[in-house]
Formats: sequence, structure tokens, C-alpha cells
Amino acid sequence: MIRRLLLFDVDGTLVHTGGVGAAIFDAALESVVGRRPAARIRMSGKTDPQIVAEYLRQMGLPGGSDLVGAVLDVAAQELAAAAVRGELAAGSSVCPGVETLLSVLAGDPRVVSTLVTGNIAPNALIKIGAYGLERWLDLPIGAYGSDAADRNLLVPIALGRLQAVRGVHLEPPDAWVIGDTPRDLECARAAGVRCLLVATGRYDLAALTSLGADALLFDLSDTDAVVSLLTGDLAECP
Ligand SMILES: [Mg+2]
Repeated sequence: MIRRLLLFDVDGTLVHTGGVGAAIFDAALESVVGRRPAARIRMSGKTDPQIVAEYLRQMGLPGGSDLVGAVLDVAAQELAAAAVRGELAAGSSVCPGVETLLSVLAGDPRVVSTLVTGNIAPNALIKIGAYGLERWLDLPIGAYGSDAADRNLLVPIALGRLQAVRGVHLEPPDAWVIGDTPRDLECARAAGVRCLLVATGRYDLAALTSLGADALLFDLSDTDAVVSLLTGDLAECP
């Protein structure tokens, strides 16, 4: 019986996509509005629609939903094309311990793991698909940047999908967000779920320490410790 929902962020938590993840927005903006942004914005923890809207504002363009949607469509095509050309695999990496951790968690019938990510769904699938991580994740119950531009709305969407798709009702304290930025912690707090932060993204341990997450780790490489943290309390109340 499922009693624990684990909500993994993608960029900086499961994988690094290097420059490819950022370059798709440059190319998509050039394709849709005819020019590239003068400077890259900080993307960590932001949803894809937020990133595009911020670029459009920076470029002095109206950030209406039609234009944002058009840029996101092309960005998804660009990422898919980069994956086909092998550029995604060449420029990206999987974070330490992720494959072992996800495979161990997938073997625990009390646990379901999925994504809560700012990536629109097709981009999330391509990024984790580069490493075959989708085999250990229940993607239909995940929540994505394509569901809401505001990351703080995503955890309740995932809890709702767990109920709607798998028929399992869990309360917020039964879930964890695992992420790499203050925005991951914020979306966990907004929903009343616990949060593990890892220092494998743009924020180092020192920068994350002061935030007061429920748990903080350098990375996900100590499988036993991470599994114990995320599921150890389940054994106490069978
Ligand atoms: Mg991240």
C-alpha cells in the first residue's frame, strides 16, 4: 500500500543539462520573436513559463500567455531535437547516486516517486529520459511547469493526481519534495509537505543551510541514509 509520495525536482537534483537546457530558450525566442535575449537570466527553481515570461519582459515584449506558449512549444521542439542530435546526452550528466536511489525506492511498495518540476512535461520527460530515469518514476501523477507557472501550486496538483489516477489519498505530511533551490523549499512549505534540499545545483551547502529545510544533504549518493530519511518513519507505524 502506498503511504509515501516523493516529489523530485529535475534540474540540479536528478540531472544537470549544462548549457543545453538554457540554450533552448535562446533558440526558441529567436524563432518566435526574431532575436535572442541580450543576457541569460537566472533560471534555478523557476518554472519554464516563468523563465519565458521573464525573458520577454527583459526584451521589452508583452509576456502574454499566447506568446509564452508559442515560445515554450518551440523550446520543447529544440530540446527534443538536441536529444536526437546527441547534444543533450553529451552536455548533461546525472547527479550522484540518483539511479541507485530511484531504483531502490521503486522496489518499496509503500513508496511512489514522481516529479514536481518547473519543466513543462515534455521537457522533463526528455531530460530524465536521457538517463532512463522514467522507468522508476510514476510520471502521470507528477506536476509540471505546464500545469502552473507558479511552482507553489504544483505539490497539491501531484497529491490530487495520486488520488485521481492511483486512487490513493495521502496527506501533505506523507510527502516530501526533494530539490536544490530555495524555490523547492518554498513550494514544499506552501503545501505543508517536508523538504530535502541537496547541494548539487547552483546553491552550495552554505547557501542552503540557513533556509531551514527539514533535511539537507550534499548529494543523494548515500542511498541508505537517503532512504532512511525519506521512509524510515514508515516502519514505526505499520
Ligand atoms: Mg532544480
